[in-house]
Amino acid sequence: MSVVGIDFGNLQSVIAVARNRGIDVICNEVSNRATPALVSFGIKQRYIGESAKTQEISNFKNTVGSLKRLAGKTFQDPEVQEIEKQYINADLVDVHGQVGVKVIYLGQETTFSNVQLIAMYLTKLKEITQSEIKIPIFDVVISVPGWFTDIQRRAILDAAEIAGLNPLRLLNDTTAAALGYGITKTLPEDKPRHVVFCNIGHSTYSVSVVAYVKGQLTVKGTAFDRHFGGRNFDQVIVDHLAAEFKEKKKIDVYSNNKALLRLRTAAEKLKKVLSANPQAPINIESIMNDIDVSSIVTRSDFEEWAKDTLDRIENPLKEALEQSGLTIADIDAIEMIGGSTRIPIIKDRISKFFGKDVSTTLNQDEAVARGCAFQCAMLSPVFKVRELRVHDITSYPIKITWLSTPEDDDTEIVVFDRGNGIPSTKALTFYRKEPFDLEARYANPATLPTGINPWIGRYSVKNVEPTPTGEPAQVKVKTKLNIHGVMAVESAYLVEEKVEEVPVAETGPAPMDTDDKSGAAPAAAPAEPVKTKKVKKLVRKGDLPVSIGTTSLDKTILNQFREGENEMASTDRLIADTEERKNALEEYVYDTRSKMELQFTEFVDSATRKSFVAQLNEAEDWLYGDGEDALKSAYVIKLDELKKVGVPIAERYRDAEERPRAEKLLRESM
Ligand code: ATP
Repeated sequence: MSVVGIDFGNLQSVIAVARNRGIDVICNEVSNRATPALVSFGIKQRYIGESAKTQEISNFKNTVGSLKRLAGKTFQDPEVQEIEKQYINADLVDVHGQVGVKVIYLGQETTFSNVQLIAMYLTKLKEITQSEIKIPIFDVVISVPGWFTDIQRRAILDAAEIAGLNPLRLLNDTTAAALGYGITKTLPEDKPRHVVFCNIGHSTYSVSVVAYVKGQLTVKGTAFDRHFGGRNFDQVIVDHLAAEFKEKKKIDVYSNNKALLRLRTAAEKLKKVLSANPQAPINIESIMNDIDVSSIVTRSDFEEWAKDTLDRIENPLKEALEQSGLTIADIDAIEMIGGSTRIPIIKDRISKFFGKDVSTTLNQDEAVARGCAFQCAMLSPVFKVRELRVHDITSYPIKITWLSTPEDDDTEIVVFDRGNGIPSTKALTFYRKEPFDLEARYANPATLPTGINPWIGRYSVKNVEPTPTGEPAQVKVKTKLNIHGVMAVESAYLVEEKVEEVPVAETGPAPMDTDDKSGAAPAAAPAEPVKTKKVKKLVRKGDLPVSIGTTSLDKTILNQFREGENEMASTDRLIADTEERKNALEEYVYDTRSKMELQFTEFVDSATRKSFVAQLNEAEDWLYGDGEDALKSAYVIKLDELKKVGVPIAERYRDAEERPRAEKLLRESM
């Protein structure tokens, strides 16, 4: 059984697995510890992760990033139109009411929804993991920002299902880091330790104030700036350099998407260099209209250009601290996570706010993935991990609404308030004579990410009838904020109030609330009948069916997407296998031909040698001609034909080579 944690990032993702009695971050096919969150569509196949990165500029119209930012979003969403569109070069379109892309795939115009794109990427992460740990993976824990709403979380869950994964939990990213911190550090036993986790990645900024007390981790406060991250800092560099190039070189980078993408890539590199150096150069050859551009940027230029963005650092810190009910003096440590916390001025600003140095004791790129893997191990029955109970909280209040009835004037209740624990359940009671509907929605839409519909779900409670005496039936509806932070109605059932006689304890004076109101002294004679009292009890009478409508994908569409994903993945595999077979044939031709001229010469008669070399030459010509783009089977057949002649020659050579060594060994052993 595998234990896998995925830090699903907007720019890149990190995968951690439990093995060798610890948690390891695994490398992808090019030995990188983070995999670009990109999907690219080609004439014959898809390219995902590293291979998509190499196509990002050459195939930019068909390469899609910002997958995480698109999760659960609609095409009309102002955030998509005004912000995300700037970072995505493929055409955005509406697919089944969700935002998706229109790309050229296998030579045809094709659309994919955001859930499908995320599923493609998760499939790639799954393949990377499987090829590293050599067993099929299924159970995973995936990180999400704490500000993700129900619809965004459901999009990730749907995508995971399409990719054939089973998320045991969607875990808020700062909570994941906090979990890793709590498990790996020695914490004081006698008093709580308060740690602030600041996660600034590529597109978003999250803060959590966490209290550790005796085997428990409690998130006390969280706050976010949903549009604050590395890409904002790249953008300020792009803006300034674009203006400089306009003035000096008379080119408008914004008029050319490819040029803009190249400048953005160079700006990101420049920004990273500036984190460790006082100044850095930028050079881009032939950025557009055959014009080369170059410049030098100093760290202080950068800090000046980014001034307005940097001024936004404090707010989430203040807000999270306020929600936690703690003061700066209560905070023991401030941990940095996410790539952008490497920017020195960001660390300075955070440190200034708390009046103490910030810590980087966690690996800032890997802490979230490791935390997710720890959580996966804790939820998996086969792994034993140091016990640390996680009390996470939700970011937005959820209310349940219903139509008013003669029995019920109220029409809504906040069922899970901001700061409510994840997971948690609450039972609601309704008095009804007929079936009824409930709706769940976010109670304070103004706090949601722009463009997110506050509607969460609709639940129709069926088969409700009056009691035999014509009274409204008492119905309990069990609601749950589940382990993923997603709202669910678990069940609905009828209850009946029953009055039961229960025996009263015989020791001591009779309690005043029994049926015996005489006030007489309690009788002690053993012959007396056993005393009883009447108590009201709620008895569960029977389950009621509930039909549920949520923002998750309809099962039919989900199945279609899953079949589609399997088909695309097997096409990719076939192309990769074909390429591998072609390479194997090519390698065999070159290797064997050179050996025929050298070491194999004396192990083959000259006629066979001549005809075999001709056969190898012919295979080479074929590879560069008709065989350039052949079926996998054609490469396999060709190689087999060559090996029929080549292998016996190679074996004769090997035997001759090994014979003296074997004889020597035999002599030595005698
Ligand atoms: P998100 O948190 O938005 O989902 P992500 O998880 O992909 O994104 P990270 O991997 O945490 O993001 O961080 C990537 C960001 O960190 C990029 O914007 C990158 O440019 C920035 N970054 C990485 N190293 C440095 C550095 N040395 N100096 C400045 N910025 C850096």
